[in-house]
Amino acid sequence: MTTRTGPIFTKVALLGVGLIGASMAHAMRRGSLAAHIAGHAHSEATRKRADELGFCHSIHADPKEAVRDADLIVFCTPVGAFAEVAAAIAPALKQGAIVSDVGSVKMAAIRDIGPHVPTGVHFIPGHPIAGTEHSGPDAGFAELFDGRWCILTPPAGTDEGAVTNLAEFWRGLGSRVEIMDAKHHDIVLAITSHVPHLIAYNIVGTASDLEQVTQSEVIKFSAGGFRDFTRIAASDPTMWRDVFLNNREAVLEVLGRFSEDLSRLQRAIRWGEGEMLFDLFTKTRAIRRSIVDAGQDTAASNFGRDTKKR
Ligand code: NAP
Repeated sequence: MTTRTGPIFTKVALLGVGLIGASMAHAMRRGSLAAHIAGHAHSEATRKRADELGFCHSIHADPKEAVRDADLIVFCTPVGAFAEVAAAIAPALKQGAIVSDVGSVKMAAIRDIGPHVPTGVHFIPGHPIAGTEHSGPDAGFAELFDGRWCILTPPAGTDEGAVTNLAEFWRGLGSRVEIMDAKHHDIVLAITSHVPHLIAYNIVGTASDLEQVTQSEVIKFSAGGFRDFTRIAASDPTMWRDVFLNNREAVLEVLGRFSEDLSRLQRAIRWGEGEMLFDLFTKTRAIRRSIVDAGQDTAASNFGRDTKKR
């Protein structure tokens, strides 16, 4: 994969240096995309660890100090922290700077960051469709975004030059870039990511509550299906709590459809409608094949994942 190298921004501020913030810093360094990378996190422990790992040039306890003179500011905190951090940095933003984020929900980012962005500063929400179930500064790695999509959702009337620069930046991090309406993004992600995570959290929760099967049996005999769900259900609780609280409408809409379809499957099993089950499973197998063909996953066993890192 060829990625652009050479500086796009002089100073980039990362508000949050966990999996996504740290990965952005590593990928920026790989491509020399910024002369200075400033980081901020709210706990002393995370700031200390980020400092030790050395992926930022400077680490700040005060987010205002991190964003001072920055050309690009990226919110990499959980979505629930956006409003508070946006209010804190607003007075220190430089005219002409770009403010963006990596939050998994875009309407909430617009609602919580948008009102704090001063005139003369460009606000372009974003969402890299890349991640792992790990979190914190140690989880970051430079290749996280390689070949993955990054969706930008610029509100109507956003400066085109600013959008071009941000898109170029994400290409430099290894991503492919797509522009989308924020509301549409939230419904697309509800079906491709948010509801699947909810299903994983639910099935793992159900298995651990079953009276006829002991916890140790669940762990000992965990077959492919359940084991794969547990990987997703190990995702960061704060991040995912915030996703569901902030994409409520779209998630509830998709869940409604999901419940109807599940009832249909329940009926098919009860009445022995094998043909219906076979047809559905054949259709879903083709979807899996299209994802592999599109380069969004590998057909290798264990999905080709390095289980230690991803
Ligand atoms: P993470 O590893 O838990 O990192 C979160 C970072 O935000 C930490 O540095 C944390 O600092 C900081 N933070 C939390 N609350 C804060 C606050 N109130 N003020 C300042 N800093 C705060 O999370 P992540 O996986 O990188 O996720 C970050 C964002 O990326 C989320 O909005 C998420 O929706 C989005 N995203 C995640 C994935 C994924 O798969 N993980 C994929 C795409 C997008 P402390 O450690 O000090 O709390």
